[in-house]
Amino acid sequence: KTFADLGICEPLVEACERLGWKNPTKIQVEAIPHALQGKDLIALAQTGSGKTAAFALPTLQALLQASVTSVPVFYACVLSPTRELAIQIAEQFEALGSDIGLRCALVGGVDMGLQTIALAKRPHIVVGTPGRLLDHLSNTKGFSLRTLKYLILDEADRLLNEEFEKSLDEILTVIPRDRKTYLFSATMTKKVRKLQRACLRNPVKIEV
Ligand code: AMP
Repeated sequence: KTFADLGICEPLVEACERLGWKNPTKIQVEAIPHALQGKDLIALAQTGSGKTAAFALPTLQALLQASVTSVPVFYACVLSPTRELAIQIAEQFEALGSDIGLRCALVGGVDMGLQTIALAKRPHIVVGTPGRLLDHLSNTKGFSLRTLKYLILDEADRLLNEEFEKSLDEILTVIPRDRKTYLFSATMTKKVRKLQRACLRNPVKIEV
């Protein structure tokens, strides 16, 4: 199969080709068509499977389609358990989205000032850890997730530790209910199942 076979639009197929990606990985084949149909996803997948692009490509495609009529800001939010992982996710969004004018901001780590500047540039996509994202929601003027259309929880099993569980709960109370949610996790745990029930609507389940 090709990315085009999965329903990925021309500008994004070209972005994949530029990165040297000839064919979608298994998780991408399984996840992308459902995501493009507007379904929520719960996916069990390991790092290295191509999971980041499995959620990034449909999110970017939706953003591209929405941009025809308006330029949405704070369109999607990706939560990750560590800053290092958040950096990798943001890099993939940027690599795939550079040609379509994507703005992506990273929040997490110590330098709140720089992150505040990044948020002031009104990014389409915000990637970060739950704790820091919540800090910005409380403290950074003009930053809110009221316009959010996509919530992505990456490595959800690791997001549900003591440090982040409360932040995550709070974030969930301030984002729109009318949104798409993609939950990716390496393992299925009790807590992940609970999060699934709280966050997802009739999700398609994918396991690779
Ligand atoms: P991930 O599982 O998201 O951490 O991705 C692992 C690596 O696979 C990343 O470095 C991606 O750049 C790469 N990758 C993602 N999708 C593809 C693909 N369809 N073909 C080749 N490499 C890919």
